[in-house]
Amino acid sequence: MAKGSVIINEDFCLGCGYCVEFCKKKSLTMSQDNYTSQGLLQANFSEPESCNACGLCVIMCPHFAIEVYKVI
Ligand code: SF4
Ligand code: SF4
Repeated sequence: MAKGSVIINEDFCLGCGYCVEFCKKKSLTMSQDNYTSQGLLQANFSEPESCNACGLCVIMCPHFAIEVYKVI
């Protein structure tokens, strides 16, 4: 069962991919067809089952685009 829920704000995401690179659980991927409001490919929370709510993606995102909530 998923331990975390991630929300990515497409108005803030600039598609840099840092969150994808640093997520050890492979819960995030870069979208192939989902664009930010600025026309860039954005990160997706694509594998929620593996997320452990560690919060590393929040720390690594330079654009404050990610929120993580613990699932209880
Ligand atoms: S909270 Fe941790 S496990 Fe979940 S998506 Fe972010 S970096 Fe990955
Ligand atoms: S680190 Fe932030 S800005 Fe970069 S792809 Fe992830 S959510 Fe988007």
